[in-house]
Amino acid sequence: MSKKIWVHAELADGKITGVAFELLCKARELAEAMGDAEVEATLLGSGVEKEAALLAEWGATTIHVADDPDLRLYSPVTYVPILAQLAASHLPDIWLFGATAIGSALGPAVAARLKTGMAAHCVDLGINGEKKLTALVPSFGGKVIGEILCPNVKPQMASVKPGIFVKKPPVPVPLRVEKLESSVWKNGLDLKGLKPVNVVRRPPEGLPLNEADVVVCGGYGVGSVENWRLLEELARRLGGAVACTRPAVDEGWAEEHCMVGTSGQSIRPKVYIGFGISGATHHVCGMNGAGVVISVNRDAEAPVFEVSDFRAVGDVNGILPLLVEAVKPKISW
Ligand SMILES: Cc1cc2nc3c(=O)[nH]c(=O)nc-3n(C[C@H](O)[C@H](O)[C@H](O)COP(=O)(O)OP(=O)(O)OC[C@H]3O[C@@H](n4cnc5c(N)ncnc54)[C@H](O)[C@@H]3O)c2cc1C
Repeated sequence: MSKKIWVHAELADGKITGVAFELLCKARELAEAMGDAEVEATLLGSGVEKEAALLAEWGATTIHVADDPDLRLYSPVTYVPILAQLAASHLPDIWLFGATAIGSALGPAVAARLKTGMAAHCVDLGINGEKKLTALVPSFGGKVIGEILCPNVKPQMASVKPGIFVKKPPVPVPLRVEKLESSVWKNGLDLKGLKPVNVVRRPPEGLPLNEADVVVCGGYGVGSVENWRLLEELARRLGGAVACTRPAVDEGWAEEHCMVGTSGQSIRPKVYIGFGISGATHHVCGMNGAGVVISVNRDAEAPVFEVSDFRAVGDVNGILPLLVEAVKPKISW
């Protein structure tokens, strides 16, 4: 019997999120490395026929679906037992989740039910000589990349942030849906408790990070909130977006949604300009897909220079105001 690699397809506003397609592409690669594996998907929601068809277009040979009005919005009360039930009946070998807000809560909860482990926020995935999943995760403050294996229990589970894997062209396969009937999963489940009724999203301010051609990123070396305002002004004048490292969030200069790296976003702008950033793996793995990387750091030995196309060894306090001065504001007519 062939092995199975599952990808959980998360929905947002009734549509499959992009990370599911990225994971399907990676799963195809893993299946090839295993030699005898099928790529399949799990999908929970309400009225999801069209979305299931999309998963087949992206190479999922079987879509395990639970479709019910009670599943319109994510709730751990329903989603966790349903996914655990599906895995217990089909025994997938590998199961991949997007490391989104929902995926980061859902995946480990399902893993706990199945008495397996989950490698969270992976920066790469591979198959070793024993045809087991190797999940690569930055460890010890990002100084080393740890290889996580979970070879003795099934499924081997991992989560990956959106943007880490690149979408490849779809490889359509015939649509095959295996439906888990509501009467089966509702049997014995208490649905009278906490119930989600609506999702309210705060619209993002400014240009979304993952759509910006130019990203100006600040780290701990920016040094002050006054300098941070200059960094924002530079981004505005360049028509770009502002990003940050973890310490800039901790200092209160930037909001967490701007953070780039393993616990933040993965970005691929045409140009990335970093100020006062050391180049820790946790950050670099979120920006190393950028086109041109320009870094400013007063330490000539800073690791960030190893991943930079242009290096400026100097003090942010001197360079940043000069740059803002030099770049004319973008004028829109
Ligand atoms: C589980 C885990 C997950 C994490 N996830 C993330 C993540 O998603 N994203 C992330 O960014 N971090 C993350 N981190 C933190 C990460 O490991 C690093 O600590 C962080 O990226 C370092 O940020 P930094 O480069 O701004 O600061 P630092 O490492 O302190 O570097 C500051 C740099 O600024 C330079 N500098 C100082 N003053 C000046 C000046 N005046 N002019 C010019 N240069 C100057 C210094 O030489 C130094 O190189 C995570 C850590 C853990 C443990």
